[in-house]
Amino acid sequence: MRYNMLQPANIFECKRCGDCCKGYGGTYVTKKEIESIASYIHTDPETFVETYCQQSGSTPVIAQGKNSYCIFWDGRCTIHPVKPRMCRTWPFIESVRVDINNWHIMARVCPGIRTNVPDSVVRECVNRELSKDF
Ligand code: SF4
Ligand code: SF4
Repeated sequence: MRYNMLQPANIFECKRCGDCCKGYGGTYVTKKEIESIASYIHTDPETFVETYCQQSGSTPVIAQGKNSYCIFWDGRCTIHPVKPRMCRTWPFIESVRVDINNWHIMARVCPGIRTNVPDSVVRECVNRELSKDF
């Protein structure tokens, strides 16, 4: 396939190893996401924030469990249909748009990321994914 025909799915395929769900990810959740996740796990937004989040400054981020994985990781993402935008767009994230080197750094920990394509293709794919309305 010619490089200029590559789509996001051609340069990233999740292997479901869970490595990106481990360690402090700073996965922030918006008000709308809090409501969606709370509803999905049958609780209310306040209880969700108190029980499943920690604060990063004044922003709630999803908490880590004792095993250092995200509290919603259990061999898979247990809130997959409503997971935060940050998780849904990974690895097509803003920081790659800012600095393409981040794609290559992320690839060291994510076996699903392909690096043997030109940076221009990666940039194009990131732009395409981030322009989607989530
Ligand atoms: S590290 Fe990459 S391959 Fe592994 S679960 Fe996360 S996105 Fe998928
Ligand atoms: S919400 Fe799901 S995808 Fe996001 S870090 Fe937690 S387990 Fe991983």
